[in-house]
Amino acid sequence: MNVRDSEAVAAALVGAGHTAAVDEAGADLVIVNTCSVRAKAEEKALGKLGLLCASKRERPRRIIGVMGCMAQRMGEKVFEKVPTLDFSVGCRAARLIPGVVADIAAGGCGRRWVAEDIGCHDVPHGHLNAGLSAFVTVLLGCNRRCSYCIVPDARGPEYSRPAKEIVDEIACLASRGVREITLLGQSVLNYGRQREPVWDAPACAGAAFAEPFPRLLEAVAQVPGIRRIRFTSGHPAGCTEELARAFRDIPQVCPHLHLPVQSGSDRILKAMRRGYTAEQYLEAVERLRAHVPEIALTTDIIVGYPGETEEDFEATRALMRTARFDNSFIFKFSPRPGTPAAQLPDDVSPEEKDRRNKALLAEQDEIGVANNAAWVGRTVEVLAEGPSLRNPSRWSGRCGQNKVVIFDPVPGLTRGDLVKVEISRANPQTLFGNLVA
Ligand code: SAM
Ligand code: SF4
Repeated sequence: MNVRDSEAVAAALVGAGHTAAVDEAGADLVIVNTCSVRAKAEEKALGKLGLLCASKRERPRRIIGVMGCMAQRMGEKVFEKVPTLDFSVGCRAARLIPGVVADIAAGGCGRRWVAEDIGCHDVPHGHLNAGLSAFVTVLLGCNRRCSYCIVPDARGPEYSRPAKEIVDEIACLASRGVREITLLGQSVLNYGRQREPVWDAPACAGAAFAEPFPRLLEAVAQVPGIRRIRFTSGHPAGCTEELARAFRDIPQVCPHLHLPVQSGSDRILKAMRRGYTAEQYLEAVERLRAHVPEIALTTDIIVGYPGETEEDFEATRALMRTARFDNSFIFKFSPRPGTPAAQLPDDVSPEEKDRRNKALLAEQDEIGVANNAAWVGRTVEVLAEGPSLRNPSRWSGRCGQNKVVIFDPVPGLTRGDLVKVEISRANPQTLFGNLVA
């Protein structure tokens, strides 16, 4: 999501007459886009800002700014940490950045905090030079308020963009050569479920789907040139029969879903306010696999949530074995200011968090190796991206399951082609194979 927001702000700056620098060293303006989800992300951002601001000693006209969730959360306080910073604009005011930069470049008052929350719908959505794949934000903010999470405070309430606006943006990207779209939202399957209508016409004449998100998938699939559709992040509540059918029946929808589980213990899931039990989560997984057996699932897990016992942790490990994820991102609980979980004693020691983190990573490695090995001898569809970075005589791309696939090119192969590759070898991260005629 931050990659997308950075690109949209960069596009807005280019629209205002700026030119993209080749690298950071050559840039007269550097804006650090920040994440507040874990304390470590904020520490890194502050360290980077400190270094950038120090570079102003040699380059006094250089402008350094900060945007994103940390800017939104810290307000004026960011200037106490980085006194020579030129500006800070929160994620809900990103549209103001070109104006702020113009002001400072014209000799304006330098350091400023744009506190004004101009509303989470009013953010930039432009794109820079399009490649093969593009991110498109469809749902902003979040209403779920999981007990550990700072995102709803930073990004504000959920807002679904009108479907027509999204489809028009994607049609424009497709006309510039984009072939793969990833639809973004914190809880993307909530798209269109709040009160504001997202479709101009209430009845979906001729549509195979009635729920707003599957309907959006159907509309995007009709955009000429779009060969693949992905989306993230999922929530079990959105894994309906219709979504499972959309995965199965819309050829462009890739068989991969990032479906964060966070924990396998019902006690911890309840404390986290996730809104499902481990059994309900696994039922959602089964619903998807019943329609699309080869679907790849990835997840997020937090270890060391306040009060997490060995038994809770083992329940998470057991769920991982049942769900057989293709990849898991494991995070150590980090208390975030203002969240309900930050009021609780952070009672799992750093050493124990580390042990649990490593144990789950090892568990995931084992499952991942077995999942990838099962692809040997099977054929996957790959979006050809071009020569592999490691070995430019071979090409790389991703299959629908979002795994990197390496294969030998043939004359006439073009970036953006969808090709069939028979898998001959697999390692934990990558599949290797040969093109099928
Ligand atoms: N909206 C997505 C969801 O709920 O599925 C996830 C968004 S969050 C920005 C990305 C991941 O960061 C979460 O899934 C969670 O595992 C992790 N995370 C969020 N808050 C955290 C915290 N306080 N400590 C550790 N990890 C956290
Ligand atoms: Fe945070 Fe939960 Fe919203 Fe995800 S769904 S952004 S974890 S509050």
